[in-house]
Amino acid sequence: MKRKIPLRTRLFLVMSALVGITVMGGLVMIWYTHRIEGVLNTIIEKDIAAYQAAETLQVALINQKGFVTYYFQDGNPDWLRQLGEYRQIFRMRLLEAYSIAENPHQRETLARIEKEYEHYTATKDKVIGYYKSGLRQEGAILHQSAREHFYSLIELCENYKKFHTQGIMAAKQETLVQAVRLRIIAVSAMIGSIGLAVVLSAILIGQILQPVNRMFEAASRSGAIEYPNNVVAALSQKVHGLIEDMDQTHLELARSRESLLQAEKLAMVGKLAAGMAHSIRNPFTSVKMRLFSLNRSLELNDEQKEDFQVISEEIRHIDTIVQNFLEFSRPPKLKMQVLSPSSVVDMAVQLLQHRLKSYDVAVTVERGQTLPEVSVDPEQLKEVLVNLIINACEAMVNGGQINITERTATDDQGKPMIELQVTDTGPGIPENLTGKVFQPFFTTKEEGTGLGLSIVERIIHEHGGKIRLEPNKGLGAKFIITLPVLEFERTADCKPAAGRKNIARPLAERSQGPQEKPSSKE
Ligand code: ADP
Repeated sequence: MKRKIPLRTRLFLVMSALVGITVMGGLVMIWYTHRIEGVLNTIIEKDIAAYQAAETLQVALINQKGFVTYYFQDGNPDWLRQLGEYRQIFRMRLLEAYSIAENPHQRETLARIEKEYEHYTATKDKVIGYYKSGLRQEGAILHQSAREHFYSLIELCENYKKFHTQGIMAAKQETLVQAVRLRIIAVSAMIGSIGLAVVLSAILIGQILQPVNRMFEAASRSGAIEYPNNVVAALSQKVHGLIEDMDQTHLELARSRESLLQAEKLAMVGKLAAGMAHSIRNPFTSVKMRLFSLNRSLELNDEQKEDFQVISEEIRHIDTIVQNFLEFSRPPKLKMQVLSPSSVVDMAVQLLQHRLKSYDVAVTVERGQTLPEVSVDPEQLKEVLVNLIINACEAMVNGGQINITERTATDDQGKPMIELQVTDTGPGIPENLTGKVFQPFFTTKEEGTGLGLSIVERIIHEHGGKIRLEPNKGLGAKFIITLPVLEFERTADCKPAAGRKNIARPLAERSQGPQEKPSSKE
């Protein structure tokens, strides 16, 4: 199977090739220019210098010509002095030519020139000797042979020059060849670079820019983009958004899973609890009845009376548990009435008088004025208050104070509501437990069921209200209940405002007042 080279590797390879070609091209250029420089140096330093030496030799030779003839004509010795000077110059040039001669061939040619020149000067000296001694005829004949030496010398110089001219031409040719090669390499490097640049652009456009643009277009379609002119910034912003959404979704999923689990658990426990409570309730009622009739019919001594008291307490405890389970598994339907919650507060406190005394707990109610009428099920609200008060009593083992504050307030949207604060002077609820106390079956008490606060929360929610546990700076527990004040059409049927179901009871029932029913904690 053909394996696809990863995009990163492909980009890396193309970039490396591009850089490689550029570096290689540069190196070749440096090498070739160095070579051309060498060739030029050879021409300038050696061949041209040698050529010039041959030229100066030739000039120095030509300059010697004519002096003997002039001397022959007028006998002036000055011509001979000048000839001597030019001979001097020739020898100097010859020495110079030797000094720059590079190879044996050059030296050999120079040696031939020197030898020929010696013959030439010797012949000329003889001619001068003839002229001086008046043998003009002999001198003229010998002069002719000196001329031959002269032309032979000129030719030797010419050959020497030609030899270096060839060197120069060869160097020129070599330079031309190198320049052509250099051009070919430069053009190949250019073509290679352009080709690789095209490949690189194709990869960048096809595999990076186009997908990025497509993503950008998709992102623009899916919502407003913060940086419309910066694709990368816009995409990274979108990706951040997506990651945050994903995190949020994960969190919500985890929460849903948790609540689903909780719901399943509760449903199962509810079924069990309902079944169990139902089975226990009838025999248990009969036990209670029999016990109380026994108490009435028997004459008990003090010790037996104490035992009876303990049995009664325990029976009441079991009764509370059964009641709690029944309520938890089958919450009663709300029987709404329009009344002031202040009356329910009074009722709950009244109901618990005996219990409060036994716990040595005093209750104060702070009430500016009676709360406005709201739609509540008084029995359920009473149960809420009873649960909170009993919890406070149980928390204050050595007695204490419960304060119930009533006031009106508004919610976040400015809608009117009533607020009931229940605070105590007990140890309070540790911060790490505040999230758990409303969970069903969470209890820190040895004989607790952990259902009281979860029932309280459910009742308040069913009323469209809220309950929260406020931090109270180590001053005991502080529960705050808020209930909405609903607008009612005050008609005979007292129908609830739109959106609320099953919350109003006919006004006719208002006069009957709340029915006394023991709370789940009672
Ligand atoms: P239970 O009373 O059966 O334990 P609840 O649901 O009524 O169940 O209460 C749960 C837990 O909340 C209690 O066990 C207790 O730890 C804590 N709690 C409730 N009310 C108070 C309070 N007023 N002061 C201190 N702790 C409290």
